[in-house]
Amino acid sequence: MNAVVKSVESLHAAAVAVVAHKFGGSSLADAARIQHVAQLLRTRPESRQVVVVSAMRGVTDALLAIADDAASGHAHWRRGFDALRRRHLDTARELLGAVAGPTCEWLEGRFGELAETINAIAVLRGAGNGMAEAISGNGEVWSAHLLHAYLHAHGADYALLDAREVLVVRREELGAAVDWDATRTRFYAWRKSNPHDRVVVTGYIARDENGRDCVLGRNGSDFSGAIFAALYDAAELHIWTDVDGVLSADPRIEPEAVTLAAMSYNEACELAYFGAKVIHPQTMAPAISAGLPIFIRNTFKPAHPGTRIDAVGDAHGPVKGLTLAHDLALLNVEGTGMLGVPGTAERVFAALRASRVSVVMISQGSSEHSICCVVKAAEADTARAALEGAFARELHDGQISGIALTRDISVLAAVGDHMAGVPGVAARLFDALARSHVNIRAIAQGASERNISIALARDQAMVALRAAHAAFWLSPQTISVGLIGPGKVGAALLDQISAAAPRLRSNSGLDLRLRAILSTKYLLADEMDLGSNWRDRDADFVDNDIDGFLKHLVAAHLPHTVIVDCSGSDAVVEHYAQWLGAGIHVITPNKQAGAGPLERYRAIRAAALAGGARFRYEATVGAGLPIIQTLRDLLDTGDELVAVEGIFSGTLAWLFNRFDGSVPFSALVHEAHALGYTEPDPRDDLSGIDVARKLVILAREAGRALSLADVAVESLVPDSLRDAGRDAFMAHLAEFDAVIAQRHAQAHSRGNVLRYVARLDRDGAASVGLLELPRTHTFANLRLTDNVVQFTTRRYCDNPLVVKGPGAGPEVTAAGVFADLLRVAASLGARI
Ligand code: ADP
Ligand code: ASP
Ligand code: MG
Repeated sequence: MNAVVKSVESLHAAAVAVVAHKFGGSSLADAARIQHVAQLLRTRPESRQVVVVSAMRGVTDALLAIADDAASGHAHWRRGFDALRRRHLDTARELLGAVAGPTCEWLEGRFGELAETINAIAVLRGAGNGMAEAISGNGEVWSAHLLHAYLHAHGADYALLDAREVLVVRREELGAAVDWDATRTRFYAWRKSNPHDRVVVTGYIARDENGRDCVLGRNGSDFSGAIFAALYDAAELHIWTDVDGVLSADPRIEPEAVTLAAMSYNEACELAYFGAKVIHPQTMAPAISAGLPIFIRNTFKPAHPGTRIDAVGDAHGPVKGLTLAHDLALLNVEGTGMLGVPGTAERVFAALRASRVSVVMISQGSSEHSICCVVKAAEADTARAALEGAFARELHDGQISGIALTRDISVLAAVGDHMAGVPGVAARLFDALARSHVNIRAIAQGASERNISIALARDQAMVALRAAHAAFWLSPQTISVGLIGPGKVGAALLDQISAAAPRLRSNSGLDLRLRAILSTKYLLADEMDLGSNWRDRDADFVDNDIDGFLKHLVAAHLPHTVIVDCSGSDAVVEHYAQWLGAGIHVITPNKQAGAGPLERYRAIRAAALAGGARFRYEATVGAGLPIIQTLRDLLDTGDELVAVEGIFSGTLAWLFNRFDGSVPFSALVHEAHALGYTEPDPRDDLSGIDVARKLVILAREAGRALSLADVAVESLVPDSLRDAGRDAFMAHLAEFDAVIAQRHAQAHSRGNVLRYVARLDRDGAASVGLLELPRTHTFANLRLTDNVVQFTTRRYCDNPLVVKGPGAGPEVTAAGVFADLLRVAASLGARI
């Protein structure tokens, strides 16, 4: 019984509690949206409402521009003014239809008065700051009036409050401060004659202590929302905007940003202070003192719960959000004279304060050799002059070597209550930035450990934000992938990537974005992801252009770029060093780099080292078999390569597995060609050059300075057919069957078989050619196109390490390339 009574009571309490709502400009952009807001209010459960409104979208900016134009004597302020007037009148007519008359009349009256004021400014050629500000507040007066008239026309009883009637503020250094005593006195007086349960209030505008119109600063309607929520003793404040809540980062920079379910006042303050526009930092003060929860919600998705901001927040993850603040500059005071001298930081602060420069961030090396601070770009010169003045003597005496100013600085701030006491948060952040080649200019961590701020160059800011966002698993690790050569292997790779993409995203936090494909005929590019249907995208085909490909790929907002070269072209390899040097990872099944000129190979490796980029080519030897990785693991763990030998050609393996003398060798070549087991010209396989290239790649991997010219190659292409046309070669090959049949017969008579083997001997000699091997030899017992590699090392000396399996075909080759791609991703932080 008791319980029932209680719940009825609390229902009653909920029904009588006041809920405050603030609607941003985008929620009130036009008549349809104003109608939508009215509908939203109608369906809310509470009976008592405070509704604070911004101006219609873009109106504040337009008013400021008009005031500015008029002040500089431009007659075209009229154009902007007329557009605003028309927009509001049209909205009134659309909203109110037949009963629009009085509202239109009212609007005409207001616009008439405003025109007079602006005219006066134009004539006098100047508006004081206060004047332009006051003009910019008109948008809220109009929008409040429109919403109120619409609600009224639909029978809803709302009072209308022009905030200037009650809200009194003082201008202080950090913005407007509410004079609560004066405000409450006026508010109670106003309430006496306006006791309604519901009210529409203008946001943004107020009155100063001298009774002049003023505003609460850009985005100030959020502040108004909190102020009126406090005055009305509201139980909750809902800030309605155009996103689902507070996101982990600005969605315009980080499309992967996630909506936060809850956060603390402190976290919200830090985020807002560092530029998350979604909530005005001052909003928090009245809410905190009243213990009022704030909900950031999407007007267009009223069912979405949004983000709850209160004293507690939630404990999920060390970093809640990331923000960027731009238009900053870095000042660095440097010199030996500061060593151990107490009070230098205070003098820096004092000098800046005296010149009214606000310091965004400060950091001092523990060596006390330098102090740097970040200030607003607009105040940078003033700040430098102030410091030069304050340290004139030290500068003169050389104790301070200089005061350096760096412009175009942004600050990335990582915010979260639970960074405190969690070791490694800063390390993770810095590591992510280093992997993305972001140069950190200065770091500051507040003693609260709620915020780590990093000053960096403006043009690296977006990359930094995305890298940090991914590092804290706020979004998947995003990699921009470009593919050159969508032939058999390239196409198979793209199919494999798109099939694996959803799993990689959800399980491994890896987001591979195929953003460009370059073939000999076309360049295909997409801002986000070409996805699986790149084959159908012929409408976008343009001329082949490697520079355009690169430019598109290195988009400023993605932290990592990988180029996959499946082309087989030597010309493409010429670009590798430059790409790697610029930090772009290169993955390839193309043997031209690993087996090409030694100088170029060394330059490529050196560039990778310098650029911090990965160069991987597992699929150059044995397609998808883990051959190079195995060798790397042996060497990296301290083993030494003594010798290597194997069968590196799937084609030659197949031919000699089949060749038993019953069918002529040339007939087998024709069959392999028909089955697609050979290159288009089978001489590319029979010449042994391809096998020699693979041997060179392995030898170089083990640190040997081997070149193709050093390999003794036994070609199976008869000399007289070397320069013939392909068809002539195929037609005449049978004439040489007797030679190879004889070798087979000899081997057979000794109980041996023929195999085409590559070897790098203990003494460093490299050769590829036809060998006689006993039938029991590992190489004699392969199937189909199997490859085999046998490593003899210091550890594996008596019984060599063998890697064996299918070593040809587009699918397995593509899988080898894909494995490289995943290994690179793992080194960049993906959970693979
Ligand atoms: P309103 O007109 O409703 O006041 P604002 O444009 O002032 O809306 O603020 C909402 C916008 O803030 C969003 O559309 C979004 O682009 C931007 N924004 C910046 N940082 C964040 C963030 N961390 N979370 C959510 N939105 C953000
Ligand atoms: N209309 C004002 C502005 O654009 C206030 C606000 O929307 O919060 O800054
Ligand atoms: Mg806003």
